[in-house]
Amino acid sequence: MTHHFDDEGNIAKGMPKQARELAGFQAMIVDAFTQQQQDDGEKPSIPCFKKNCKGVIDILHSIITYCIHWSCPVCQVGGILYDWRGTKWDNTSGHGIKTTAIEKAGRLWFNRLTDNIVIPFSAVIISGLNEVLPKDTQVIVTKITDYFDQCGVMVEITVGRECYTIPLCELAVSDILTENFKPVDEYLSWWFSLLDEG
Ligand SMILES: [Zn+2]
Repeated sequence: MTHHFDDEGNIAKGMPKQARELAGFQAMIVDAFTQQQQDDGEKPSIPCFKKNCKGVIDILHSIITYCIHWSCPVCQVGGILYDWRGTKWDNTSGHGIKTTAIEKAGRLWFNRLTDNIVIPFSAVIISGLNEVLPKDTQVIVTKITDYFDQCGVMVEITVGRECYTIPLCELAVSDILTENFKPVDEYLSWWFSLLDEG
């Protein structure tokens, strides 16, 4: 996000109005998210900036790259903020995002899967994400991309010619005889046991 800023770290004045609004909104997300990290509070509830949209922004963060992923569940606007650390809206005073015990375990799972999974492999959607990716859709997993809090390991998939990034926990390996089955199955058992614990 640093390219939105002038030499003094302020939102650049020469930007077109729309870009300024977006940059201001992204700064607000960084401010609220990093403040919540400091306070250990609830995730901030930020209303969507789009006119007439009543959505509340979902905020996820990566425990691998530390990027902040934000999106509006209603109008689907969203983005990923990479270079937010050290900006004037970063309230972590250089300490960065705290990693919880679960997230530390999640990072180990991410590394384990990255090291052991043979890519690409066939999988099937188990719960039905939306109209585009209903239950039982056959997909090809092409890449393990990241690990987001609340979503776990993220993977890139292709369906026909389309490409999506979704949580691995939405998938099951199609062929139980492949070497990928066991590590993915063990990861899924761990992930769903977290959900059961609440
Ligand atoms: Zn919206």
